[in-house]
Amino acid sequence: MSKGVLMVFSGPSGCGKGTVLKEFFAQGGQAFLSVSATTRSPRPGEEDGVHYYFLSKEDFESKIAQDEILEHACYCGNYYGTPRGPVYERLERGENVILEIEVQGALQIREKCPEAVLVFILPPSLQELKRRLVDRNTEDMETVERRLNAAADEIRMAYQYDYVVVNDALDDAVQELKTIFAAEKLKAANRKKIIDEVLEL
Ligand code: ADP
Ligand code: 5GP
Repeated sequence: MSKGVLMVFSGPSGCGKGTVLKEFFAQGGQAFLSVSATTRSPRPGEEDGVHYYFLSKEDFESKIAQDEILEHACYCGNYYGTPRGPVYERLERGENVILEIEVQGALQIREKCPEAVLVFILPPSLQELKRRLVDRNTEDMETVERRLNAAADEIRMAYQYDYVVVNDALDDAVQELKTIFAAEKLKAANRKKIIDEVLEL
């Protein structure tokens, strides 16, 4: 069986990563969305084990020491990281896996898993990014400012990604994400099974 596609999905806070992914799944998109660990506090409505594994700093550091975290980064004062086990299990089963992570983590994934596909989500403008982040109303103003200050540096990293999707009209962004999965599935590196079948090997 061919392995699933490992996709990294990054973009500045508030650009709409969560919204694009939610719509992708609502439209029947097939992938396992990795649940990250973090030391930040839950937002209202966020559940442990569903949106994140909410850990203390000590527990997070102990998981790093035990090599249970595939990549991790410190973002705006908190640790965020990807639990290793579920990602490899799903890929081996042939499922697509999406990691919604920030740029430092994305570069670690590129080193460790060169076959990973890196997708960067851009907001239509920095003004619109600010409007979305403020209107979402999930962070205090100081956190919003910190996240906006990080945004330009993050966007400069987009050059190192494989694909860039602009999240202006939501439906277009979701369609582009589907197109990327479809293109990746057709890559020669992922077509060994069908090539062998045609050759009757
Ligand atoms: P992220 O996951 O990147 O931090 P969210 O998905 O939480 O961002 O989106 C931030 C805010 O922007 C939310 O209030 C969301 O409803 C809004 N939003 C997302 N995508 C769009 C879009 N295409 N057009 C307008 N508003 C959007
Ligand atoms: P938020 O606090 O808004 O949920 O996430 C803040 C940032 O952390 C976002 O850019 C998000 O993509 C990133 N993030 C979430 N989980 C992970 C993770 O497991 N690893 C890394 N490196 N970044 C993550």
